Amino acid sequence: MNTMKAAVITGVGEVEIQDIPVPELGSKEVLVKIGAASICSWEQRTFIGKQKPGFPFLGGHENAGEVVAVAPDVTMVAVGDRVTLGPTKCGKCRPCLRGQDKACVEHFKYFSLKGGDLGPGGFLEYKVHREDGCFTVGDAPYELACLAEPLSCAVHGVRLMGMKKGDTAVVFGAGPMGLLNAMVLVNAGVDTAIVDMDEERLALARKYGVPRTILSSGDAVDAILSEFPGGVDGVVTAIGSKAVNEQGLKVLQPRGTLCLFASAHPVEPFEIDPNWVHNSEVRIIGAVSADLEDHKRATDMIAAGEIDLTPIMEKTFPLAEAQAAFEYLSAKPSYRVALIP
Ligand SMILES: [Zn+2]
Ligand SMILES: [Zn+2]
Repeated sequence: MNTMKAAVITGVGEVEIQDIPVPELGSKEVLVKIGAASICSWEQRTFIGKQKPGFPFLGGHENAGEVVAVAPDVTMVAVGDRVTLGPTKCGKCRPCLRGQDKACVEHFKYFSLKGGDLGPGGFLEYKVHREDGCFTVGDAPYELACLAEPLSCAVHGVRLMGMKKGDTAVVFGAGPMGLLNAMVLVNAGVDTAIVDMDEERLALARKYGVPRTILSSGDAVDAILSEFPGGVDGVVTAIGSKAVNEQGLKVLQPRGTLCLFASAHPVEPFEIDPNWVHNSEVRIIGAVSADLEDHKRATDMIAAGEIDLTPIMEKTFPLAEAQAAFEYLSAKPSYRVALIP
């Protein structure tokens, strides 16, 4: 049996490079030689023990690579294709038929966010994926193509918000997910501002096309309202904090939409005046992960060069140095870091 290297989180603060078997291909499955796998905040939280999926844990759901083998019944991709790996779907259940396939039981089948399973993770040399979860990405370098998954989450959130050309929006937080949201909004023709307490992050956002940046010292409401008198049509909170969510509510236009994009650790409830929601007809929504169509759209944006993800990819490490990569990410606020097998 062939074996390959995998970077397995074996306990809090510990990553081990293990030899694991290369799985056999089943029906409709393909073998992808991983070109790059970026580390999500979710996996980083597992490494530092803030989230407990059970160990050993093989993360890695942000992947791109080359198809090197296919099962005989595969028709959607071919050996040699350069692809990003995303969700799969059954195509027959109620959520699938309604375009809400994130709720399909097959959505995470090859794309595990559940952990405790050495099968579907992506921090390894070869990954088995089903053909409908492979999306061709043209010539884009793998260390940027692997960002299709986080980009798909921003595409998903902006789509659920219903943002369109000519709208105005503000994004709280200029970390990787905030910046991706701002880039997707700008790409959609939305007049967008991004708020952060770190001028360096704002300068990077400006450099990559976000037209308005607001340096906050804790409360950005007045500054936002002076940029956008009367408020904005959309607010994305890419920081999970009570104070940020409450500021978001204060800068919403009537009929505006607040998207709670970030999860909160720890959970911090915030207050909403029901009469204000009633009278101003605002919407407060959540967004996490993506439907298959969002992943396809994100991959197409990368393939076509519609969006420049260079600022998101901060650093790459060889797979063998996964321990150092997780430590690097845990030492300071970072953009994305990718493992290269
Ligand atoms: Zn992710
Ligand atoms: Zn389904």
